[in-house]
Amino acid sequence: MNARLRRVAASVLLQLAAVGLSTGSVLATDDYTLPFYNPNVVLSYGVDRDRALNRQLDWTGQVWNDGVPHWGRVYDQHTGLDYPMALRSDIAAAKSGTVVDVQGGFGTSQFGAFGNFVRLQHGDGRQTLYYHLASAADGGISVGIGAGVVAGQQVGKSGCSGNCFGAHLHFELLVWSTAQLKFVPSDPLAERRWTTWPGRVPFDAAYVRESNGGTEVIRLGTTITHWVEFRNTGGRTWGNSGVPGRIGLATWNPAAHTSLFRASDWPYTWMATLLDAPSVPPDGVGRFTFGLRGSPSPGSYTEYFNLLAQGLRWFDHRRLSGYYIPIVVSNVTQ
Ligand SMILES: [Zn+2]
Repeated sequence: MNARLRRVAASVLLQLAAVGLSTGSVLATDDYTLPFYNPNVVLSYGVDRDRALNRQLDWTGQVWNDGVPHWGRVYDQHTGLDYPMALRSDIAAAKSGTVVDVQGGFGTSQFGAFGNFVRLQHGDGRQTLYYHLASAADGGISVGIGAGVVAGQQVGKSGCSGNCFGAHLHFELLVWSTAQLKFVPSDPLAERRWTTWPGRVPFDAAYVRESNGGTEVIRLGTTITHWVEFRNTGGRTWGNSGVPGRIGLATWNPAAHTSLFRASDWPYTWMATLLDAPSVPPDGVGRFTFGLRGSPSPGSYTEYFNLLAQGLRWFDHRRLSGYYIPIVVSNVTQ
């Protein structure tokens, strides 16, 4: 078995990243994350920071005097950030906070002035708004008014409700205006508020290597040690303590599958180990070390694993579920 076959999808650079690198040296404030999990989602239109008609100031600082939409940048008098994505994609809180308003009564694709949304209040005084969501009946609203949420927690699913011409999330960062005595839109891209400028999904990973890239042979009734390393390609630091958010290596075929290879060091029957190190920052490499016990009868097996952030739906399991270990359990006498 070739180890290369085990590698999960390569790290995907957001198109946005290539654009953003040239636009300035302001440091990220590292306190907001992208409000979705799929790393392939990119910005279609950002905030028009100039409210005048037919004059647009985009997130890079460029001014357009044509009133025409510019893909990846801005359309005239736009108050948020548009991220096209399939209907019913997971939407996540961009920062920890409290749910202050929800609307889920419109159909998932029902056109009209208003639509379904979740609105959060954050401890820094700002609010975030997640708009055009799927209906509550369609699973579009995952939280209730008054509920506390943590950064990255799923709060709803995308739709195309309200004033929407094609499925997307309309995300707004709102700040209190003392002049207008109300919350007004601001631009998180221009303010460098994403976790890692110009933005990464909170948790993502890419396979690096493992202790044995071939087939593990385990004698019946004995335990061997195996480790695998993943690079942290997301925007948040990995940890191995505290829920929600600690990172584990769990079996994933199906979810919470009780493994035949559980060793005495596994925290659960379906989780081989937590991250070895207390923390691994973005771009760092995290190792996961665990035992494999030859409990089942002699034969060939394939055990699937996946990274898991406990209590959160951070990882895109469909992308990462390709990691597996081919195992041969041999007789004691062999
Ligand atoms: Zn929009």
